[in-house]
Amino acid sequence: MTGLDAVFESPISDVARASSDIDCLVIGSGTAGVSTALLLADRGCRVVILEAGPLRLLSHIGNLRLADTTGLASRMSDTVTIPTRWMTPRQAQSDADVPAIPAWIGVGGRTVFWTGTAPRYKSWDFDDWPIAADDMVPYYDQAERLMKVSGNGNEDQPPFYRSVGQKLAIERLTAAGLPARPTPVGIDTHRARRLGAGFDSSASRLLASEHLGKFADGAAVSLVTQAIAVKLQTERDRIGSVVVLDRRSGNTLLLHPRHVVLAAGAVQSARLALASGLDRLSPLVGHYVNDHLFVQSTAEFPTARDDANMNVMVDATPERPFHLQIQGPFKGTWYHQSNSTMWVNCNPDGTHMMMAAFGVGSVEKDNRIVLTGEGSAEYGGMQGFRVIYERTPRDEQRLAAMQATLDEAAIALGSTPGKTQINPPGSALHEIGGLRMADNPAHGVTDPYGRFWRVENLSTADASAFPSQGSANPYLTITAWSLRHADALARSLSKKPSRTAESVST
Ligand SMILES: Cc1cc2nc3c(=O)[nH]c(=O)nc-3n(C[C@H](O)[C@H](O)[C@H](O)COP(=O)(O)OP(=O)(O)OC[C@H]3O[C@@H](n4cnc5c(N)ncnc54)[C@H](O)[C@@H]3O)c2cc1C
Repeated sequence: MTGLDAVFESPISDVARASSDIDCLVIGSGTAGVSTALLLADRGCRVVILEAGPLRLLSHIGNLRLADTTGLASRMSDTVTIPTRWMTPRQAQSDADVPAIPAWIGVGGRTVFWTGTAPRYKSWDFDDWPIAADDMVPYYDQAERLMKVSGNGNEDQPPFYRSVGQKLAIERLTAAGLPARPTPVGIDTHRARRLGAGFDSSASRLLASEHLGKFADGAAVSLVTQAIAVKLQTERDRIGSVVVLDRRSGNTLLLHPRHVVLAAGAVQSARLALASGLDRLSPLVGHYVNDHLFVQSTAEFPTARDDANMNVMVDATPERPFHLQIQGPFKGTWYHQSNSTMWVNCNPDGTHMMMAAFGVGSVEKDNRIVLTGEGSAEYGGMQGFRVIYERTPRDEQRLAAMQATLDEAAIALGSTPGKTQINPPGSALHEIGGLRMADNPAHGVTDPYGRFWRVENLSTADASAFPSQGSANPYLTITAWSLRHADALARSLSKKPSRTAESVST
């Protein structure tokens, strides 16, 4: 190690030598993993974060102000993605060539590339969850403080966008029956107290934490990168060891932590559980996978609007279970292809807006992960799966309603609806499920705190536990959920003597 890794990371060999000292091994360094790790460390636990990818960015890419017109931001993103596949049962049978869905692997996971939209789920989103909406409130408050969410009604953190045109747009949409508000975003609008304010990312939260240090020095939180959890090995009803592929050397090692937290992103957490044979204990492992229904469109003003830099949101309602996001008009390109004005070849000339609708999809048991064993050995099985996913007729109707409502919104704003596109499953990058939580083991894999019903020392901190898709973007809710999960885990870990204490006393 000679670069950034030498400063921030611990060699896997150091960790493997004393892995029974680890209270909790967290697999994945996205918001679920880092939020869990830091809370556990606050409560006195010793945590190691295992991350499959490298440390490339110390902060969100938007904070670097890279010029996407020259492709720098997109190229940076491409260095930390691998392709994965979502397909219908028919496409799977015929081995059809479907578009790849990128998976981001690197310190911070997707949080160093996300777009920043950070609304809460609505209380009715929790109707089919085994926890009440009110249970989430303190964790939402905590997550908003951690992520420095602005525009959620807190005067201390005013909306990021506040133009005259935005105010007018909100009035027009609301008058047209689409009540709108400034989008809450995970962008710090405090007057700068310290450098580095900007988009939230779990990478910057981790690197700024006083807990992060070298494993060999006894740090409360240590980071190991380019190390893939390949398999969780069970001993009766517990995880006895975790098989880890060290991508630097190509060697595999065994770790023996007291507890293992899956925070690999919903699909990868469920895939790892399947690859570890945990479906033999809980047959629902890998089932009930879902992603937001996702429509994108553009709208064009007749002339450039210099007054209208906006980011507004029309919230979902129980009757209209999809929300709208409207951003623009753009005078430059956004930082990443999938969220860029380039997406629809529209001109960044101050006339075009980008619009999106995200809708709740039907929850179906048969939408599931299937292992295929494909992919490069370098990625330790991370590509060896497909998500088999079929939309229902209700989903198709909802998608049509989403398209029509986007057009209505464009017209209400005095613009002309432009290109519209229904995106394929998986492309919203808001996936949930696979390790569904339920209040009994017959109906789910995990309990209402993300703990596996049938494996004593294993839990999930990410959206793999979500029983259904909320009506808002998930980052904030994943962060809040991971804090709720970690809060319960810290209490149970503190009740059990650590292995180190056991070995000292014998
Ligand atoms: C371009 C983009 C824009 C987005 N915009 C928004 C938005 O505006 N609002 C919003 O709410 N959401 C948005 N999202 C989605 C949001 O970023 C994700 O839902 C959220 O960050 C997921 O967090 P996570 O911690 O669960 O998983 P991830 O961020 O995916 O992190 C999982 C980590 O685990 C690692 N990992 C996986 N498997 C293994 C393994 N076997 N061993 C070791 N490590 C492993 C991965 O490498 C990865 O770093 C966006 C996503 C993208 C990509």
